Amino acid sequence: MDMNHVENQDCYAGLTVNSGVAQPPSVNPYLTRRKRKPLPSVGEMVEGIVKGDVTMLSRAVTMVESLSAEHQAVAQEVIEKCLPFSGNSRRIGITGVPGAGKSTSIDVFGLHVLKQGGKLAVLAIDPSSERTKGSILGDKTRMEKLSVHPGAFIRPSPSGGSLGGVARKTRETIVLCEAAGYNNIFVETVGVGQSETAVHSMVDFFLLIQLAGTGDELQGIKRGIMEMADGIVINKADGDNIERARLAMTQFKSALRLFPTPASGWTPEVLTYSGYYELGIEEVWKMIDSYFEFVKANGYFERKRAEQSRFWMYETINERLHSHFYNNPEVQRMLAAAEEEILHNKRTSFAAAKTVLDSYFGAEN
Ligand code: GDP
Repeated sequence: MDMNHVENQDCYAGLTVNSGVAQPPSVNPYLTRRKRKPLPSVGEMVEGIVKGDVTMLSRAVTMVESLSAEHQAVAQEVIEKCLPFSGNSRRIGITGVPGAGKSTSIDVFGLHVLKQGGKLAVLAIDPSSERTKGSILGDKTRMEKLSVHPGAFIRPSPSGGSLGGVARKTRETIVLCEAAGYNNIFVETVGVGQSETAVHSMVDFFLLIQLAGTGDELQGIKRGIMEMADGIVINKADGDNIERARLAMTQFKSALRLFPTPASGWTPEVLTYSGYYELGIEEVWKMIDSYFEFVKANGYFERKRAEQSRFWMYETINERLHSHFYNNPEVQRMLAAAEEEILHNKRTSFAAAKTVLDSYFGAEN
């Protein structure tokens, strides 16, 4: 009992006040702040990647995905140095609506290609990941068998930014993976929007996974996506669904006949398979193998890659110009003011745009 405390005097009998217990410090002294691992040098990263060190590869991909200018600068140097070691792979884009069976199929397709030796990287482009906070595409938990395979590197879609930005990051990650010895690259995307075009611009073969449906559903498939496909595969051809899948195959074949022959000279094939029951997998890969033989023989493979590199140079320039402009504080201020004026009919859109651009270019000169 604390005898010095005023309330322990006789007049307060019945009430005892004990000395307080010292409060523990608000911060656990044993919990020292974990130091962030220092950034490996560009040289260390490149050396690690070329040796196939997965940790280094992952760190470099994180740099590519980072929004920090410092990380971006490091990433660009690493990519530049990895470029001579890249290119030696088969880049395959895989698309299909949610539920088409992309993850089930990639798991099975992936094991199939890994049986032939080499390594496989599974990447993804999902611009909606910005809204949903984290992409489900390319998620390890969706590919049970591949995720525990030592030869597979699975990376979900980079998040943040425009589709162009997300796609550029995936394009750069391909370079890093190839330098690390991944000779098979799958790029997955959801077949519902613009992202197929982005994937198409970075792969050699574009596979469209479809489901059996009625003629009506066939109408709903965007013509553009079908036109991009080098192969259409109808999944879930198992059990009661086999007949319907065959019918869908016929429908797709006749729909494809209406399209002009693609620049590759390759006529897209249509097959049925079952990812879940692992039926027809071999045939799908035979088709893909014959495509590669075909386009390597007629020179289209090299031409397309060169065309894609050109495309990505312009994409990168466009994206950088865009972000440089919109991230400029003065531009942001002027745009806000211009919006006000336009909304109140004080100026025309064109005049307002001219003022902002003139000011930007004037400042740049
Ligand atoms: P994703 O959204 O395109 O990645 O599709 P999932 O791979 O997650 O598959 C969606 C659903 O279809 C799951 O319930 C799978 O088990 C099922 N599924 C996938 N492939 C097949 C198949 O070949 N046959 C059957 N019957 N079901 C399948």
